Amino acid sequence: SEELQFQEQGEKIYVSIRLRPLNDKSRNRICDWECVNNDTILFKHNLPERAMFRAAYTFDRVFDSDCDTGLVYEEGAKHIALSVLDGINSSIFAYGQTSSGKTYTMRGITEYAVSDIYDYIENNGEREFLVKFCAMEIYNEAVRDLLSPDSYPLRVLDDPERGTVVEKLTEVTLRNREHLYELLSICEAQRQIGETSLNETSSRSHQILRLTIESCAREYAGARNSSILAASVNFVDLAGSERASQTLSAGARLKEGCHINRSLLTLGTVIRKLSKGRTGHIPYRDSKLTRILQNALGGNARTAIICTMSPERVHVEQSRNTLMFANCAK
Ligand code: ADP
Ligand code: MG
Repeated sequence: SEELQFQEQGEKIYVSIRLRPLNDKSRNRICDWECVNNDTILFKHNLPERAMFRAAYTFDRVFDSDCDTGLVYEEGAKHIALSVLDGINSSIFAYGQTSSGKTYTMRGITEYAVSDIYDYIENNGEREFLVKFCAMEIYNEAVRDLLSPDSYPLRVLDDPERGTVVEKLTEVTLRNREHLYELLSICEAQRQIGETSLNETSSRSHQILRLTIESCAREYAGARNSSILAASVNFVDLAGSERASQTLSAGARLKEGCHINRSLLTLGTVIRKLSKGRTGHIPYRDSKLTRILQNALGGNARTAIICTMSPERVHVEQSRNTLMFANCAK
């Protein structure tokens, strides 16, 4: 059938890299990475004895450390995020080690996307829109509602009609864009409370902000059989990728005090399988993150991954791991 053809065709995951600028904490002010042609990043290895060795990695887009978030949004996320207005589910991920700029990047991307979505809605005379928002955090495979943090943990259930649902998750119908900005700052504050009470939770947890947009032609609004277009866009700030590192020694794993992040590992497997052509079994069900995002990953959903990298030499191994992940996703 036509629908099956569309699904099989699939769509590549849009993969970009964003190199964070050196900051005040960067003691050794050497950057080992060089971005060329907007799509390639090189490991310079600018040590004299290794001058011959240069590895290059190519992606859909590479953002050098002087690119601002507006550009990262325009070229790395906008076309994916706004497909929600065509009724297509989508997700934008920030992947990378702790302090590489995931939260900084996702915060900006979310604000730009919200602004574009509302500009579109307010200037569209033909359709009527309903925008809903929900927000959650996954920590050690437990789901917290960022808008109602006390009811914890929430259960993830399979609904025969709606697919995977998070039980009792608060879903707010938005009045306008200011209302959304208000809720975004509540989520941010909530995440910061968690951070201080649970010792760096944010580097171990995944945050999903989800906008669901329903629309129907204005002339049919309210009619019983009006055809409604509905889709969600998910903004996902992932746990630090060092949590997925396979190379941790047994000792380091013990010190870590918690299991290697199941959701992050499963996401990696799911993305690798999807990028290889969506055949065979895709283990969405193996983690909370991939269950919750199942409808926004694969199928005819659209996905962008922004991999953030720390430029400092001390982080070179983690940066390379990030590039390997990005390479598998593209
Ligand atoms: P992560 O969420 O990956 O742990 P953060 O987003 O918190 O990392 O970024 C770490 C620090 O670096 C923060 O102080 C943040 O403001 C800063 N930072 C990150 N990316 C950029 C950037 N592109 N430009 C300027 N500062 C940045
Ligand atoms: Mg963060």
